[in-house]
Amino acid sequence: MTPVDLRSDTVTRPTDAMREAMRAADVGDDVYGEDPTVDALQRRLADDLGFEAGLFVPSGTQSNLLALLAHCERGDEYLVGMDAHTYKFEGGGAAVLGSIQPQPIVQADDGSLPLDRVAAAIKPIDPHFARTRLLALENTWHGRTLPLDYLRQASALARDRGLGIHLDGARLFNAAVACDVPAREIARHFDTVSVCLSKGLGAPVGSVLVGPHALIGKARRWRKVCGGGWRQAGMLAAACLHALDHHVDRLADDHARAARLAQRLADIDGPTVLGQHTNMVFVDVPVDRLRALDAHLRDAGIRISIGTLPTLRLVTHLDVDDAGIERTADAFARFFATR
Ligand SMILES: *Cc1c(COP(=O)(O)O)cnc(C)c1O
Repeated sequence: MTPVDLRSDTVTRPTDAMREAMRAADVGDDVYGEDPTVDALQRRLADDLGFEAGLFVPSGTQSNLLALLAHCERGDEYLVGMDAHTYKFEGGGAAVLGSIQPQPIVQADDGSLPLDRVAAAIKPIDPHFARTRLLALENTWHGRTLPLDYLRQASALARDRGLGIHLDGARLFNAAVACDVPAREIARHFDTVSVCLSKGLGAPVGSVLVGPHALIGKARRWRKVCGGGWRQAGMLAAACLHALDHHVDRLADDHARAARLAQRLADIDGPTVLGQHTNMVFVDVPVDRLRALDAHLRDAGIRISIGTLPTLRLVTHLDVDDAGIERTADAFARFFATR
């Protein structure tokens, strides 16, 4: 029985073709700037997204951290969503390592930072205040895409007020596929963009930060400070290039499967489907049945993550096929048919 792992799109394993691309990769010492495959990946994403330069890093967390460190100095602050990854889920890295203060903003339901709240949070230049330097957005956020019109307005506000603007685009390509636009149409509203290759795109490791030469140069220096120098990382970059060539368009399949799963779960008496956005389905189940549901699904070869809240996040990806979706829905139906 093929396992169906809906905990996250980070659980994908490299395909045989991706492993072959990794095996065949031309490599060198990237600290000397001599890994041709790392260079090719950095150039490829910079070109595709419309930026001067790119920097390959091990994780999205490091990519975002380096962006914050590149944009902001000690005593500066960045405006960020209260539930954004760069505020809530990155260990406070910008504060710990950069003495950069986050100014969290309560987000709207679609994940956007209401621009009146953003404008009101920009501090006057005065010794009392941290210097507001950066607006950080996230797209997709909990699977939701930010409207292109909103991005235009956010970017105009940032430019007008002299702020930099960074995108945590861990799932930028999911957003682009869902909005049916090239990814650069989203990226063009930002000074720097971080993209994860290790989520729905299916690479085992890797994120790329893109931006102008000056900021990427600073980020490269901070990567070294954070211990993040690579040697023959071309084998990993080859997996990322393979993902860009073969796994972008197919994200639409993940979105369709998430929609199918949401539709099937909505027909079951018990769970309440809250919504489906790109490759994520959010569903409430009675808290007192969470553990039993988890055990029941495990027996059926299905993995989910449960916490203490009623809401489950089910994530589709490269390693979940149509049969996996039907099996999951069938297992939910069997569970809720019995009390
Ligand atoms: C996963 C994720 C990150 C961080 O990526 P890692 O590679 O896990 O460090 C950043 N932002 C968002 C929105 C993410 O989903």
